[in-house]
Amino acid sequence: MGTSRYGVKIRKQEAAVLKEKNKHHPCPRCGKDSVRREGHARWRCHSCNCTFAGGAYSPQTEAGIASKKALAGKKE
Ligand SMILES: [Zn+2]
Repeated sequence: MGTSRYGVKIRKQEAAVLKEKNKHHPCPRCGKDSVRREGHARWRCHSCNCTFAGGAYSPQTEAGIASKKALAGKKE
């Protein structure tokens, strides 16, 4: 029934993930767009040479940003 449409949606998401994975990302340390993916959830800035852990396909995951916000808002 709706399975074919669901499949198209998944393929579109995979394309978006690949695009995100292959582009340069801004470095949280020096701010330059020199961060490339080194391995699973590992990122390296080729400008200041720092390595850091992040999301599997993007250095900052939405879940990570949400958890940081949650931590910042918790002042009890
Ligand atoms: Zn950097």
